[in-house]
This record gives sequence, structure tokens and C-alpha cells, in this order.
Amino acid sequence: MSDSTIDNRNTDTRLWSNKAKNLSPYVPGEQPQHDNLCKLNTNENPFPPSAKVGEAISAVLANQADDLRLYPAPESDDLRAALAQLHGLDSKQVFVGNGSDEVLALAFASFFMKEQPLLAPDISYSFYPVYAQTFGINLVQIALADDLSVDANDYSQPCSGIIIANPNAPTGLLLSLADIRKLASAHPDAVIVIDEAYIDFAYAAEDSSDKAVSAISLINEFDNLLVTQTFSKSRSLAGLRVGMAFGNASLIEALTRMKNSFNSYPLDKLAQAGATASVLDKPYFEETCQQVIDLRESLTADLTTLGYQVLPSHANFIFARPKEGNASMVANALREQGIIVRHFNQPRIEEYLRITIGTKAQHERLINALKAL
Ligand SMILES: *Cc1c(COP(=O)(O)O)cnc(C)c1O
Repeated sequence: MSDSTIDNRNTDTRLWSNKAKNLSPYVPGEQPQHDNLCKLNTNENPFPPSAKVGEAISAVLANQADDLRLYPAPESDDLRAALAQLHGLDSKQVFVGNGSDEVLALAFASFFMKEQPLLAPDISYSFYPVYAQTFGINLVQIALADDLSVDANDYSQPCSGIIIANPNAPTGLLLSLADIRKLASAHPDAVIVIDEAYIDFAYAAEDSSDKAVSAISLINEFDNLLVTQTFSKSRSLAGLRVGMAFGNASLIEALTRMKNSFNSYPLDKLAQAGATASVLDKPYFEETCQQVIDLRESLTADLTTLGYQVLPSHANFIFARPKEGNASMVANALREQGIIVRHFNQPRIEEYLRITIGTKAQHERLINALKAL
């Protein structure tokens, strides 16, 4: 059991602040440690990180007397420079933190602790309501459309900001850049945060005039647009804990102030070196992203053949509804065979399973198990 699931009634909370008592922490997807488990529940990448990452980390370890004795670069300058170059930006437009979860927390504190509410989809990354509660932010959840997509027209009310995961989780559906433009121009005095944890697996619609899918391409146009990304999914580095944000220099400055009022050294030297090496190895990154996309398409085809209804995914997971809608039963039956997928016991999506893209062998095991059900 993780700390966050401790039942407060059996815990001595006498010494806790009211703040600590009233939190309702995020519960991460389980990380069970059995042999021969087919773990398709937390959207990690099935491929290892670039070999360059290990080499860079080994180089830091080989020079521990200097490298680990001293504090790391507080603003992770080399990593930010590499990311700026990758995206054709200035380093002042790049922020990094200890996972994008930390970057998102700092963004909530920097931009949304205001009078007006924050808007977010009602079905999305479940950490958003947790941050809103942590920082005392009034979160207004906007219902997804009937097809489970985000409709930008539903986000017209006055607000301090909007946060949308794009592609959205757990649906995998993508909002177009045209819609993101619409949101940013409709709310010039609010911060629009686009959480692009899965964007490297996305593709542009054929009828779209935008070839790009990442809203990074819009940050020079809109000073109120902040785009967050992570090394955890497309770069196979969930264990290293590195996330980032891209935006106007003044937004980045606000995040930096908030960071330096909380923890000046969120990224250790190993993380900075490993993440920088990952950014510099562009061919490996592109190749593994393409392999995940290909595996996604073949899994989608296989599940469709089995009668599953699969939403068009732009992520490294698919959201699929078994023919009978008995998702919870299917998830339990798979678990008995050591295959772990994610089921959300939540209105409107309880008939779906979220399945992380795995290796070819994992997919074969999954499909065989489903056929045998
Ligand atoms: C995985 C995920 C994150 C968190 O990423 P970390 O960098 O590992 O903290 C943020 N947002 C969404 C939508 C995610 O799925």
C-alpha cells in the first residue's frame, strides 16, 4: 500500500496541519513486482532509453569526487540549451523540472491561484484536481463531448486558465492546433496549459493545414500559452524524473521564481546529464517513437478484429471498449493471467480499458488471453 492510501481514521493526525489533513493525494498506477508480469497499465515505453543516456550517467559517476560532491546547475543550463536548440527556441523559453508532474504543480501555483476558476476537461489526467485542491484553486470541470473529445467551444467562460492534456488521457484523442489557437486568442488574460505528455506519438489530421501537432509551434504567437512535456513516455525515462515546459520568457520566469521558492535543485546531475544525452540522440528517439506508433496501429487492428471499439489514439496507449462493454470483468480476467491494464471506474468511461502499448510479444500474450476469454 502506498502512503497515499493510508486510511486517516487509523492514523494519528494530531500533529498534522489542516492542510495536510484535507489533501486527497494522487494515487499512481500500481507498480507490482512479480516475475513474468505483462505490465500495460502506466504508459511507460516498452523500449529502453538511448544507450547515450547510460553513457552520460556513467561519465558523471566516473567523476563522482567532483560531480556528485558539488551541487548541480540550478537552472539545468545544458539541458535547457539542448531543448531550446531542438525546438528552435531561446533557452529563456524553456523550463525543466523533476518530472512534468512537478512542472505542472509549479504552473498551477504560478498561474492559477487567482480569483477566477481554472477550466479542465472532466475526464483527463487525474492529477489536475489534486493540484487544484493542494493550491486552493477553484477547478471547473467541463464535460467532454459525446464522442469523448474536447470541444474548444465549451471553454468560453471567464477563467484564470485552462489545462488540457493533448493528446488527452485516457482517451488518446487529439485537439487540433486550430482549436488551441482559438482557446489562446479567446482568453488573452488567462494561461492556457497544454500538457503534451504523449504528443511525440501524435499525427496531424489529413485535412489539417497544420503539419505540426505540438503547440510548441504556437508559443511565439501567444504569450499566454505554456506547453509541458515529459521524458517519461516517448524518451523511456520515467525513472529519471525529467519534465519540461515551453512558453513565453515571462511565463518561464514565473515558473523559475516559484521553483526557487520551493526547491532550487530539482534535477540532480545524473538526471541533467542523462536527459541531455537523450535529447541529443535524435535518430534513436525518432526510431523508437515510430516503432511504438506501428505497434499501436497493429494492436488497434487486432483488437478491432476481436470486436473491440478502439478510439483513434495519438498516444502510447489505446482506449478500447470490449464488445459487451464488460471492461471491468475483462481487466480482472487478464490480471489473473498476469496481464495488467487500466480500468477507470468512472461514469462514461467505465466500459473502456486503457492499454499501454507494449512489445510485440506482450501484445501477442494479450491478444491470446483475450481470445481465450
Ligand atoms: C505521465 C503523465 C504526466 C507525468 O509525467 P512525469 O513527467 O512522469 O511526471 C503528466 N501528464 C500526463 C497527461 C501524463 O500522462
